[in-house]
Amino acid sequence: MLGLYQAVSVDIDQIHELTSIVREARQQIFADGVVTSTAQKKKLMEEFYGAEAPQEVDVQPPEVVNMKGCGSRLPSRVEKALKLKSRPLRQCKKCQEWGHHDSRNCNKFKEKEKRRSRRNSEV
Ligand SMILES: [Zn+2]
Repeated sequence: MLGLYQAVSVDIDQIHELTSIVREARQQIFADGVVTSTAQKKKLMEEFYGAEAPQEVDVQPPEVVNMKGCGSRLPSRVEKALKLKSRPLRQCKKCQEWGHHDSRNCNKFKEKEKRRSRRNSEV
């Protein structure tokens, strides 16, 4: 697109003409219906602009912007680990270990509880 504008010498009237041509072309494209295949698009471009469509497109559509409240994505394992790493360590009063848990959700305590309940169910 930029090349197109550069090809035309900087003259506001010419730029206006060009934009009107582009608008017309766009209207015709949309009036004909949805152009699906890239070959069709290329043909249209060649017809309207009289130039070959560029092989490489260096202007991409913008990334989709997330609206408020639409980011309910579950964090990956790596993200979870990174978050844990950034947290300060706490000493557990049950196992006296420095980690990211406390006496209320101590793993050692839980394991003991599990074993006890299993033993109880076996008996
Ligand atoms: Zn603990």
